[in-house]
Amino acid sequence: MEKLLAGYRRFRASSWSEQRRIFESLANDGQRPQALVVGCVDSRVDPGVIFDTAPGEMLTVRNVANLVPPYAPDVAYHGTSAALEFGVRVLAVPHLVVLGHGLCGGVQALLEGAPENARDFVAPWMSMAESARERAMRFAGSPQERAQLAEQEVIKLSLANLLTFPWIAEPVSAGTLTLHGAWFSIRTGVLAVLQADGSFAPPPV
Ligand SMILES: [Zn+2]
Repeated sequence: MEKLLAGYRRFRASSWSEQRRIFESLANDGQRPQALVVGCVDSRVDPGVIFDTAPGEMLTVRNVANLVPPYAPDVAYHGTSAALEFGVRVLAVPHLVVLGHGLCGGVQALLEGAPENARDFVAPWMSMAESARERAMRFAGSPQERAQLAEQEVIKLSLANLLTFPWIAEPVSAGTLTLHGAWFSIRTGVLAVLQADGSFAPPPV
């Protein structure tokens, strides 16, 4: 915690004074973020760092393996779906991004089974990506290539699940909301964006 508080002191000493006007105008006028990113909890894959965003520009919801569950308005506690509802229906963000990444521990648990001490929640959570696991297991490449394929299949699965939400499918077909997929390599720092043909490619520089 001391390390975190030291970081907070640095923030107060530098970033706060530089960005004070931004925070004050966001406090007075409210937020109008242009994107909602569904990312992974992984500490190495911070959407704000990767997209170099300022306060107020991007909503972020992070969970294990950047998974979007299917639309299921029941009595369960749907944290990710609640964030989607807030971002899409209340704030009307025009862009929704599923951001996956290399070396994802959640996807590793999907492929190899969750660690024994992560079976209360991680294992059932990851089980929603079973179809992505099956597609990856049919692939005959190296374990690293298979993991990357599974990570990218999970991104596509999350995008497909987004369209099961009626208030996402509707603005998508109306053209007011655009869905995007992207995969980030921790090792190289390069982002690959999902293309119309299903492949992932770095954006133009
Ligand atoms: Zn991850």
